[in-house]
Amino acid sequence: MRIDIITIFPKMFEPVLGESMIKRARAKGKVKIQLYDLRDYTSNKHRKVDDRPFGGGSGMVMTPEPVFNAVESIRSSSRIRKSKVILLSPQGKKLDQKAAKRLSKYKQLILICGHYEGVDDRIRQRLVDEEISIGDYVLTGGELPAMVLVDSLVRLIPGVLGDKNSLNFESFEGNLLEYAHYTRPSDFRGIRVPAILLSGDHKKIEAWRKKEAIRKTRRRRPDLLCAKYK
Ligand code: SAM
Repeated sequence: MRIDIITIFPKMFEPVLGESMIKRARAKGKVKIQLYDLRDYTSNKHRKVDDRPFGGGSGMVMTPEPVFNAVESIRSSSRIRKSKVILLSPQGKKLDQKAAKRLSKYKQLILICGHYEGVDDRIRQRLVDEEISIGDYVLTGGELPAMVLVDSLVRLIPGVLGDKNSLNFESFEGNLLEYAHYTRPSDFRGIRVPAILLSGDHKKIEAWRKKEAIRKTRRRRPDLLCAKYK
């Protein structure tokens, strides 16, 4: 998979893309992530990529020219057919595990990070295939949302996580939240680990975990539960 990110703050990404799981996925060649400074794609001699909104009002708007130039340049240099252009936007479809799974199957994603009041709407009309929001709140820019999206996708690429079972049992799989985890010591300040987990009986442990997951989901996220667990 290849992910191309267009931003006016490429340096914001370095610490996140250069650590932990994303760093390993890149090193293993599972994902190629490229950053593009939007200012490299403007013909404005002051490298300006924003302007005042037509019709007045507060704030600045990202101009279409550099964003179109950047996407067209990425597309012509990568020549990947199955690609998707995503605009990070609080007005987009809310990111969830299902969307992350769907998007992780693309060969190429081109992410556009907005800033200021947002982007000129012609970018959305003509260039963007999908708008993704990471939640119902407004952030300063699309950089943090792009990082959230990248993290959620990359861990789903086959071979990225060491143990593929960790994906099968995690929250949102099978419409359930994950069961509680415990590790050593078995008794911490008088709080004991449930005895069943120390029993060595894997069938019973599995049944206990399933019951716990259903109980937890019913209490915290009843909206997720499918009919048979209600
Ligand atoms: N004026 C816009 C509005 O009211 O919908 C908000 C613009 S916001 C200050 C600037 C940029 O941050 C957006 O263009 C988008 O790229 C990004 N952004 C902010 N909140 C976001 C969210 N919840 N999800 C995804 N992107 C977001």
